[in-house]
Amino acid sequence: MALFDGLKGKLADAGQNVSQQTRNMSELARLNNLIAETKRKLSAQCFELGKQYYQAHQADEAPEFPEAVSAIRGLLDEIKESEEAVLLLKGIKKCPTCGTEVPIQSVFCPGCGTQIGTPPRCCPACGKEAKEGSLFCVYCGTKID
Ligand SMILES: [Zn+2]
Ligand SMILES: [Zn+2]
Repeated sequence: MALFDGLKGKLADAGQNVSQQTRNMSELARLNNLIAETKRKLSAQCFELGKQYYQAHQADEAPEFPEAVSAIRGLLDEIKESEEAVLLLKGIKKCPTCGTEVPIQSVFCPGCGTQIGTPPRCCPACGKEAKEGSLFCVYCGTKID
């Protein structure tokens, strides 16, 4: 039966097309994922390259990409300032020598011994701490220099 055979052939074709389309769709998705993933890797590599260039040339008098270098320096400074403000809000400061985080009122760094603050004024008579700007000790009345 020619008609039936013809129809069977068409159905088979249609079936093949559908599975071919499905294959194409999954291949398309695979390729799109691959492109996105490769772009992520590329961007990470560019970031790494830029970081290494900056670290190697940040102190150059005339770096090859002066605008990028100074833009990066500006951003790093902004981060540093904000980080210091965050620490200040937490009542912490960082030792400039070793980077240890210490309470804001610390006079010496517990990590390296660097003096990182001014010692509090003390009453010469009783030794108790005198507030900044006070003329007499609040505990014993002694005049404070
Ligand atoms: Zn230190
Ligand atoms: Zn005193």
